[in-house]
Amino acid sequence: MKALRLEAIGDLFVREVDIPSPGPGDLLVRVEACGICGTDRHLLHGEFPSTPPVTLGHEFCGIVEAIGDHVSDIAIGARITGDPNISCGRCSQCRAGRVNLCHALRAIGIHRDGGFADYVTVPRKQAHEIPLSLDPVHGAFCEPLACCLHGIDLSGIRTGSSVVVLGGGVIGLLTVQLARLAGATTVILSTRQAAKRRLAEEVGATATVDPSASDIVEAIAGPAGLVPGGVDVVIECAGVAETVQQSTRLAKSGGTVVILGVMPRGETVEIEPFDILFRELRVLGSFINPFVHRRAADLVASGVIEIDKLISRRVSLDEAASVIAHPPAAGEVKVLVVPNRA
Ligand SMILES: [Zn+2]
Ligand SMILES: [Zn+2]
Repeated sequence: MKALRLEAIGDLFVREVDIPSPGPGDLLVRVEACGICGTDRHLLHGEFPSTPPVTLGHEFCGIVEAIGDHVSDIAIGARITGDPNISCGRCSQCRAGRVNLCHALRAIGIHRDGGFADYVTVPRKQAHEIPLSLDPVHGAFCEPLACCLHGIDLSGIRTGSSVVVLGGGVIGLLTVQLARLAGATTVILSTRQAAKRRLAEEVGATATVDPSASDIVEAIAGPAGLVPGGVDVVIECAGVAETVQQSTRLAKSGGTVVILGVMPRGETVEIEPFDILFRELRVLGSFINPFVHRRAADLVASGVIEIDKLISRRVSLDEAASVIAHPPAAGEVKVLVVPNRA
């Protein structure tokens, strides 16, 4: 079969490899779709720790083709979405229920072979069944949606809340939708790209702002802004210094800021601790997807999440390496790899 292998940092190409055989507790899954994510670009450039040689791809769905020993509760032919993050279940964080902070966390597509291939093996406990009636590529959105769902859970959004989402990529556009589902009645998205502002309004943003056209802190939280005094919840989904800096200033006193975007390790921003203290802001990190993958899969299966509009293009395994090697094109939201069928 074909697999897109990170052979070393900076060294990514398609190779012919053997179809893996499922070990005890594993499923062999024929990949239907696997999303390309910013993390894949970070992995290629060594900005995110990994263990090459490894097949990348952590946002995948597919059909169970074979079952390893000790698996009895899923049938061949079932469609699954994979939760890539495997916690050890034994360390102090796992025992305290904080599995995303596991000391020995390993991820499919980062530390063991992932979904940019014709087939992937997945531990049964990481696989969540989704309906065969679903569009085959929609399952690839469960993983990014689960990460957004964890951020929404942490944010404490309530019915009637006001929310600002910073960033118009796939994480921002999924977060807008979840904020509305959580009951927020004002959801403002900020992004420079006009196409993404239009898309945000189509998927539920009540307003959008262009940070290159005006001072968005003034435009949103200023006395004549959209929400004078600031919003209940700010969710940073861009992972850039400028938006992280804006995030605390957009929150109202007593408000919450959630950091969901990934900034490169080691990069820093200036903040004003007095402002966080004096206005009693809650500033939270949201890391991956503890115990939310099943809910995300159910949301995708229910059809309440607009997914088709977030798919910019579908590419083959052979095309994927160059997509990952280049920054996303303007207006591009999500590129899906659809492997060659065996
Ligand atoms: Zn990802
Ligand atoms: Zn652990």
